[in-house]
Amino acid sequence: MADKKKFKAIIIGGGPVGMYLAHALQETGIDYVLCEKRDAIPPPTAFGLFLWPYGLRLLHQVGLLVPAHPHGYPVRMFDRASLGHMLYDTLREPAAHIRTGRQLVDVERRAGGVTAHFAGGSREEGSIIIGADGIWSTVRDFMRRDAPEGLFDEFPYVAGYRAVFGRSPLPSSSASLELERQPRRGRKGFDYTVDASDAAIAPWLETRITNDLTFRNLWQSRAAAGGAGLDEGMVLPNQGMGANGGFEGAASLVNQLSALLRHESDPGAAELRQAFLAYQAERQGVMAAYQRMARDELDGWTRSDSKGGPPLDALRATDVLISPMVARSVRLDSVPFPDERAGFSPWLYKMPAEAARAAGGGPKL
Ligand SMILES: Cc1cc2nc3c(=O)[nH]c(=O)nc-3n(C[C@H](O)[C@H](O)[C@H](O)COP(=O)(O)OP(=O)(O)OC[C@H]3O[C@@H](n4cnc5c(N)ncnc54)[C@H](O)[C@@H]3O)c2cc1C
Repeated sequence: MADKKKFKAIIIGGGPVGMYLAHALQETGIDYVLCEKRDAIPPPTAFGLFLWPYGLRLLHQVGLLVPAHPHGYPVRMFDRASLGHMLYDTLREPAAHIRTGRQLVDVERRAGGVTAHFAGGSREEGSIIIGADGIWSTVRDFMRRDAPEGLFDEFPYVAGYRAVFGRSPLPSSSASLELERQPRRGRKGFDYTVDASDAAIAPWLETRITNDLTFRNLWQSRAAAGGAGLDEGMVLPNQGMGANGGFEGAASLVNQLSALLRHESDPGAAELRQAFLAYQAERQGVMAAYQRMARDELDGWTRSDSKGGPPLDALRATDVLISPMVARSVRLDSVPFPDERAGFSPWLYKMPAEAARAAGGGPKL
């Protein structure tokens, strides 16, 4: 194997999912470089992020966040900036693997690999590119360009909501989110700057948050705020599942790559396609279920007549369905996890027998 080239993944995007992916590849022994278009990781403006037990378990497995909790792992709210710093600072040799100020502008497929081209003329060569570049993904644009016509829907994820979010220093409230349906579908569908958000939240200003607080109080004392169209929200943010699902997807993909590289250190396009198909098979149904639950729940919340009936039934169904899905969530097959926590609802994901035998070592490159 020594004469074969070394497999290397190029990650595009240094958000929470790209950074978790960097840790997962590192711990699995797969070489990578991560390219982020902004000048810093994390970016200066960042809001809150809920991590569910399965997201925290994945962070724990790669050596981060050892949580003390009687039931295994809690659900916990994170400041995105602190999480981003932690993910960066705990990488081994981050300077060797992370490049900021690198905006992907083209992808070139060539024999035996791929070249990523960045604004300003720099480039990276690798075996594969993994898109972790968020909504309106540039990587997906290049996949669409190179795919047979009609294979990709131009607007694959349409949520039909927009949101205003912010952070307020008032006691007993750290974050708030208001959502409303939006009429338009499409890329860059409407302007939703903070100024526009001021007008957009006007109908909710008198909404009571607690006995002493209205939404106006939170809004007026906000430390930071922003607005976003959720028209490409794969999973709507009301359940806080987007980044959690991204972590799980990253673990699932790394598992497939790790299993492939254990047998073949220089896989060809056909073998890589099989690995990506296996990843898709594992993740597509789960993410579609989360997507449906988030949409049904949000429809329940936002119906003005939701005093019972179908919307409430949808909320109850969500409660019943989520726990088993969390219990079956993926973890990294080739990273030993002797101190994994468990609660009254045990983890059900089983490593493939082969990966279990190999646990203790990454792929033989
Ligand atoms: C209001 C709100 C609340 C949310 N709350 C939660 C929550 O509580 N829990 C949860 O799990 N999820 C939540 N989500 C969803 C979560 O924010 C996303 O799922 C998560 O940010 C996705 O992470 P990511 O790393 O894939 O993408 P992103 O966070 O979007 O990061 C993508 C990165 O790629 C970079 N990039 C983009 N294009 C290029 C390019 N061409 N070249 C190089 N770099 C590029 C960007 O600069 C960015 O740094 C929420 C979303 C919203 C809108």
